[in-house]
Amino acid sequence: MEKKPHAVLIPFPVQGHINPLFKLAKLLHLRGFHITFVNTEYNHKRLLKSKGPNALHGFHDFHFETIPDALPSMDNDDVTQDVVSLLQSTRKNFLNPFKNLLATLNASSALDGKIPQVTCLVCDGTMVFTIKAAQELGIPILILWPASAFSLLSLVHFRTLLDKGLIPLKDKSYLTNGYLDTKVDFIPGMQNFRLKDQVDYIRTTDPNDSMLHLFIEMVDEIQRSAPTIVFNTSHELESDALNALSFMFPSLYTIGPFPSFLNQTPQNNLPTLGSTSSLWEEDTECLEWLESKEPRSVVYVNFGSITVMSPEQLLEFAWGLANSKKTFLWIIRPDLVIGGSVILSSEFVDETRDRGLIAKWCPQEKVLNHPSVGGFLTHCGWNSTTESICAGVPMLCWPFFADQPTNCRYICNEWCIGMEIENNVKRDEVENLVNELIVGEKGKKMREKVMELKNKAEEDTRVGGFSYKNLDKVIKEVLLKPK
Ligand code: UDP
Repeated sequence: MEKKPHAVLIPFPVQGHINPLFKLAKLLHLRGFHITFVNTEYNHKRLLKSKGPNALHGFHDFHFETIPDALPSMDNDDVTQDVVSLLQSTRKNFLNPFKNLLATLNASSALDGKIPQVTCLVCDGTMVFTIKAAQELGIPILILWPASAFSLLSLVHFRTLLDKGLIPLKDKSYLTNGYLDTKVDFIPGMQNFRLKDQVDYIRTTDPNDSMLHLFIEMVDEIQRSAPTIVFNTSHELESDALNALSFMFPSLYTIGPFPSFLNQTPQNNLPTLGSTSSLWEEDTECLEWLESKEPRSVVYVNFGSITVMSPEQLLEFAWGLANSKKTFLWIIRPDLVIGGSVILSSEFVDETRDRGLIAKWCPQEKVLNHPSVGGFLTHCGWNSTTESICAGVPMLCWPFFADQPTNCRYICNEWCIGMEIENNVKRDEVENLVNELIVGEKGKKMREKVMELKNKAEEDTRVGGFSYKNLDKVIKEVLLKPK
């Protein structure tokens, strides 16, 4: 019997990177690949905790493996780990355990033939060490850039901003004195952008800032080894950035947006793989609650897996939502508020009793696709952004860090499907914008625009569409390329 190709996939170990790689794993599995999906031990433990001890077993040709993350163990095993430490640790500590894992998989394959030999790697763009592992084994590697194409373009130009003396910032006052409004109109593919729209690791006063330099090195390494890079986006959404990037990276493909791709792909042979990438236990009661609400009446509020806010900011959001008099579903992660516990007064609870539901974590895509949801108050993570577009839901944006300011710029100014909330959030602004989003004229226009983008995303990802054909091409020309 002919052996299946065997792809090993390893995400950067946080939720927003695990999800898109997991979706790509599903797409490859559906196209006949044997899949090994590699989580860190910490995340694996969390998956078992949230899904139950047997949740990660028993799939046909799809299995999970683990490697250690080399970080000190934590008291609370249900929180997002420190992203900076994780980035540093993956770069420093992951190559050897990853190579050992690949060797073990191949040895086990040779021993009993139950799994095929590893034939290719599919890895997150921030896990560049994997390129070395692929070179040593002499097998192809595909890099998934899990964020937007324009975030990669912004990172590529960190060096340009340094050379022009625009960064690092002279002192901390530059964060608030209007300096970040400085136009950055010399980056091809990013017209009308300001410093504040760049990936926010530039907001440093330290010339030796570790994150700034880590990303510069990372991009250099990717450019040096020139692997094929795929994006969870469509050409339609980000053509300017993609055209600009194509001069710097020889082999780029858009194969998304994944939510649309998977929505249109029959998944009968994947009965329970569904949410086995979600690190928190999902509250599904909110879906029943949504059933009782009017079409497009609910504002869904979720700041993703990493954003944190002060208790004061939480209160401004809370009273903005309460005063808007609109119905809301608000996901408050246990570690959302800096300093721990979330305290919402009995006055707030009484005021919103009949029209507000708060939960800890939810099946976001199902929520966004529910007909009762009329708008999404989001931190603009790339997954949340694409999921909202694919569900045809307009947004209110409160970007927190990393690529989120860049995504926000696109959502509000290029695609015109969202409105931004000031970083220094105030309840009146939240109240007004929530109303505008759900019942206002602007909200209506944004909904029409986002529906157009949703339809285009569906066109791109259905059989014969641009992204669909790209995935076929990448499979044929990269992953299945004979040695
Ligand atoms: N997510 C979810 N339920 C929640 C919150 C988030 O399933 O209650 C998922 C969401 O659908 C998305 C991911 O977690 O796929 C968050 O990724 P994103 O890039 O939006 O933000 P990040 O968490 O990386 O800041």
